[in-house]
Amino acid sequence: MQLFDTHAHLDDEQLADNTVDILADANRHDVSRILTVSTTLASCYRSLRLAEEHSGVYAAVGIHPNYCHEASLAQWQEIETLVDRPQVVAIGETGLDDHWDFCPFELQQEYFTRHIQLSHRSGLPFIVHMRDCEPQMLETLASSRDAAGQLNGVMHSFCGSQLAAEQCLEWGMHISFAGMLTFKRNHELREIAASIPSDRLLIETDSPYLSPHPCRGQRPNTPALVRHTLQCLADVRKTSIEDMAAITTANALRFFQIPASP
Ligand SMILES: [Zn+2]
Repeated sequence: MQLFDTHAHLDDEQLADNTVDILADANRHDVSRILTVSTTLASCYRSLRLAEEHSGVYAAVGIHPNYCHEASLAQWQEIETLVDRPQVVAIGETGLDDHWDFCPFELQQEYFTRHIQLSHRSGLPFIVHMRDCEPQMLETLASSRDAAGQLNGVMHSFCGSQLAAEQCLEWGMHISFAGMLTFKRNHELREIAASIPSDRLLIETDSPYLSPHPCRGQRPNTPALVRHTLQCLADVRKTSIEDMAAITTANALRFFQIPASP
């Protein structure tokens, strides 16, 4: 099996001191590729460095919705120049967060739109964070579709409604599941996961946050644990873990335009 953890924050301080061990552990558990996702300009440079230094690690560049208020226009313009780097395969993470009060919502929306426009220009897919703001999210996505009415993006660590999933799928988006899929109470989420077309599914850990069951509570979460989310996805879709691994890895390689043999 070859697994692709499509969303981790390897540059986070909880992980950054142990990169070599974490990647070795991931490899032992069949995780051969990891997308490390940035949250600020400084994080973009750390992610780029990780991707340069370790084969199988790729970078996404962007400003997380909870950090937009700390970014200057010059910093955003610098991020725009980073998309041409060979290690960069996605834009993000971007999106909207109405749970934390860190950044004014209007500013988040402005940055979200900028990220989507950068995705359109660069041809790289964008990575969406959504928390407690589904109606506003769908509204913003609806108004950001490309000339063909499509969106080249992924809803990361999805925990929205069936309706939101269906709408995003209709717009051509991918849906990525993280550890929350495995939590006991999340029956509805597993039902949604069972209904997503095979060719739109991705898996991730969102390390260092929210370790999957049965490692729930383990800190930090690491890419090696993505297998538990994969197993859960295989179970709800009544298929084997090997089959689910092949499907999700092929989807990730195609979505991020990464050649199959490194
Ligand atoms: Zn994230």
